[in-house]
Amino acid sequence: MNIKDYNFQGKKAFVRVDFNVPLENGKITDDTRIRGALPTLKKILNDGGRLIIASHLGRPEKNPDERFSLRQILDAVSQHLGIEVKFAADCGNAQKEVEALKNGEALMLENLRFYAEEEGKPRNLPADITEDQKAAAKKAMKEAQKKFAQTLASYADCYVNDAFGTAHRAHASTAIIADFFDKNNKMFGYLMEKEVNAVKNVMNDPKRPFTAIMGGSKVSSKIDIIRNLMNKVDNLIITGGMTYTFTKAKGGKIGNSICEDDKLNLALELIAEAKSKGVNLVMAVDDKVADKFANDANTQFVAEGHIPDGWIGMDIGAETEKLFASVIENSKTILWNGPAGVFEMDNFSHGSRAIAEAIVKATHKGAYSLIGGGDSVACINKFGFANDVSYVSTGGGALLEAIEGKVLPGIAAIEK
Ligand code: AMP
Repeated sequence: MNIKDYNFQGKKAFVRVDFNVPLENGKITDDTRIRGALPTLKKILNDGGRLIIASHLGRPEKNPDERFSLRQILDAVSQHLGIEVKFAADCGNAQKEVEALKNGEALMLENLRFYAEEEGKPRNLPADITEDQKAAAKKAMKEAQKKFAQTLASYADCYVNDAFGTAHRAHASTAIIADFFDKNNKMFGYLMEKEVNAVKNVMNDPKRPFTAIMGGSKVSSKIDIIRNLMNKVDNLIITGGMTYTFTKAKGGKIGNSICEDDKLNLALELIAEAKSKGVNLVMAVDDKVADKFANDANTQFVAEGHIPDGWIGMDIGAETEKLFASVIENSKTILWNGPAGVFEMDNFSHGSRAIAEAIVKATHKGAYSLIGGGDSVACINKFGFANDVSYVSTGGGALLEAIEGKVLPGIAAIEK
């Protein structure tokens, strides 16, 4: 079902959102996630629906755990929605509060993860139990998880998933609950729909040339993504700290730069794989190096593979910036994950900014650009370009798994 075509009038709607917002002393320090869900929540209220808002917050270990209570954000949500949102202090036992809801009213459930059933993992198992006992506890938990999902489903006439950030988890409220609704009564929320479409834009039938820019510190954490992208992209820019593993593997000098010595063979394999698949693998030709890992370090520019002993590669150099920009600016589809250097330090953020600027230029020329996965989102926000690219994903881990080519349970549960 498509949310824009659904009439929520008189319907109880269970909406799974991601209100896992950062809190300091009970105050929200960044309300991006709440604002992200508003179009969906407002559509339901404006239609005259009965809104049930469900989310997790943090990683509670028991029920209840006041530090992780969603009551802390109730006022903020009420303010954003312009109505007084009611609260159900026990999300697994909220029938009474749900039944009291009238059309156009909203109820927020307490943190779903107060129940271990949400994630479906047994909690606090004694350390001395046997493997068989562990397996039995896991099996029992899976059954309990199904029951918990059924209870949540029983509150509502329809199910809306607007929590892309948890779409890669097969939790009770993100995936299993969907089995209790027929196809006409389950759907993505607007935010989730945008995320799903953004992934489809780049992963299925992208406009060419398609360039992926993979940065960040370690090859090992990006290996599955790089492998999957090799089958999709025309140009693959590998940058950031993982560059030095490749440079060392090719016999270059990398000084004290970050390097995964156990991944040197893997780096050579990836280079060979790119060649055999006709992927244009683009890597740094020069670096900005520093004599210590600090913003106020002494710096110099050197050719790639010629980093003096004791020096550290911290960012790409000017020639590399030009090289990357020319590839990016000629692309029609761009995916960016991971910075080109230690962008948190201003003196080593220039390369990441150059990449961001090239993406903005390409986007203005009509390219589709998707920025996603923690640090590149932080980069694009730091440089103030969030509105000059096609889409900035809100889902770190979920986006990365989608790019790895995995089926996300939260998406599959709606689409099946
Ligand atoms: P990741 O979490 O793997 O995406 O990596 C992001 C991190 O990589 C950021 O914190 C960057 O500071 C770091 N990074 C990027 N380039 C380098 C580099 N040349 N040396 C060390 N760390 C780097």
